[in-house]
Amino acid sequence: MSYWIDTHAHIYLGEFDADRDEMLQRATQNGVGKILMPNIDSGSVDAMLRVEEAYPELCVPMMGLHPCSVKDDVEKQLYEVENRLSKRKFAAVGEIGTDLYWDKTFWEQQKEAFTIQVNLARKRNLPVVIHCRETLDETIDMVEQLQDGNLAGVFHCFTGNSEQAGRIIGLNFYLGIGGVATFKNGGLDNVLPGIGLDNIVLETDSPYLAPVPHRGKRNEPSYLVTIAGRVAQLTNQPIEDVMSKTTENARKLFSL
Ligand SMILES: [Zn+2]
Repeated sequence: MSYWIDTHAHIYLGEFDADRDEMLQRATQNGVGKILMPNIDSGSVDAMLRVEEAYPELCVPMMGLHPCSVKDDVEKQLYEVENRLSKRKFAAVGEIGTDLYWDKTFWEQQKEAFTIQVNLARKRNLPVVIHCRETLDETIDMVEQLQDGNLAGVFHCFTGNSEQAGRIIGLNFYLGIGGVATFKNGGLDNVLPGIGLDNIVLETDSPYLAPVPHRGKRNEPSYLVTIAGRVAQLTNQPIEDVMSKTTENARKLFSL
């Protein structure tokens, strides 16, 4: 298992249309052996599946409705998620969750869409990939309510504190660690030394949240090694162990 897994990258987006081949080549050259693609909504599915078709060994799709795409047509969107899940295999239900950063209009619908999709995952024995922004405590509360012992998943782009990390680990969920670990005021330098490698997976969230020294520019899966280097430093573990442990965690969680 000597390769990295980027557990969260939107490499099907237009940001990569001009150089997707070269960008994925750089990822492979840097030891990234699998890239998991979270869906956004019905408008992103076709592009995502085209990338899977072009790079079937490398790129693995998920299916879900992103909280920022929960709008007036949420019922129709959720029907499409369910329909797609019934037709073929996906690695996870994702990304799903809650987000009050941009818009608070659909908060009730967001919570309902989240619960519905967690239950879709439960029905199909799939893990969930959770996005939350400004809503971490509320979302942990919801997962506590929904956890029946069989639910597995990851809080992607974890940026919370030690107490929140502890609650997530207590729920048998993983923390998705990305570029924020390299930010000066990211806060993960207070959290990672205390939790070690057993409950984390790595991610880039490409094209967003590029790690230092690429901060503010387009992110891509080859930068996962930069994030891993910082995780090695903060957990005081050799980089080889960061690779073997996070890859093992991701393979187990997503049945890769
Ligand atoms: Zn995402």
